[in-house]
Amino acid sequence: MTVTAENWLEGLVDEIRPALYGGAVSGYLPEFEAARVDDLAIAIDYGADGILTAGQCHSLFTAQSVVKVFTLLLALHHRGEDYVFERVGCDQGIGSYNSLETFIRGSGVPVNPFVNAGALVVVDMLPGSDPDSRVRNVVDFIRALSGNTSIGVNTGVARSEHTLADRNRALGYFLRSHRLISTDVEELLWAYCQMCAIEVDVVDLARAARVLAQARDVVVEGQVLRAAHLRLVRRLMLFAGMYEASGQYACDVGIPAKCGVSGATIGVVYQRMGIGVYGPALDRSGNSVGGLRVLRQLSGTLDFD
Ligand code: GLU
Repeated sequence: MTVTAENWLEGLVDEIRPALYGGAVSGYLPEFEAARVDDLAIAIDYGADGILTAGQCHSLFTAQSVVKVFTLLLALHHRGEDYVFERVGCDQGIGSYNSLETFIRGSGVPVNPFVNAGALVVVDMLPGSDPDSRVRNVVDFIRALSGNTSIGVNTGVARSEHTLADRNRALGYFLRSHRLISTDVEELLWAYCQMCAIEVDVVDLARAARVLAQARDVVVEGQVLRAAHLRLVRRLMLFAGMYEASGQYACDVGIPAKCGVSGATIGVVYQRMGIGVYGPALDRSGNSVGGLRVLRQLSGTLDFD
């Protein structure tokens, strides 16, 4: 039998599947508990060479922390690099992604845009006259990047998180007490929960990631996304995208990536491919077991630096 690219990827899913049982689905929200530990879907967008998929590639899941990649890019596009990095750091995380420790490290701002304190600061600076319009702008941005106009918010998941968001609420009030956000904390939190609950499939993630892989400025629905901003986002993903395992991941795998608590994973190989994975089994660091394995496998087969 000839091994086509498509069945190579299906073979990869089969190869990885046994390892998924070593992880566990997140208990962060009751909605995640219904996920199957052995679920794994992959999409790889090679640009002009097309998209490869394997597994249930049209199953929907919420982006969770993967959305932070897009909120950061939108903030950079809208406000510019200086504005963004005066208010949020560009450093590796310390402690857990949602802890107060991630807040102050000399500079007095959250360590980076991917810890929750930093992500809340980024949401505060997004375009839009009020929090709801900021959510719409983020949804529109992800629709434009992925080319899928049906992307929307899973309001049930957003509400569920909002009722359980005491840690993020505490971070919000803490940030406000330091004058790092100006929006009403409850409104900001509701906007953030909705952004985390944007529903996508792996093809959407792969397509959006392929935009991030570009070497030059990209025009997306009339907006010019600057190459320098795409590069910055990739670099942050490389050293801060995988929670507390980020440093180890950067050394071992080296593909800029971001995981979310739902099992959503995005990876970007410069000038070559955008990768979207859904694997709800998480490891102890909170990263998707399947997502990590796919990225590790690709990194082993690709010639890149
Ligand atoms: N909505 C989740 C939170 O803010 C996202 C966590 C994650 O995916 O890392 O806690």
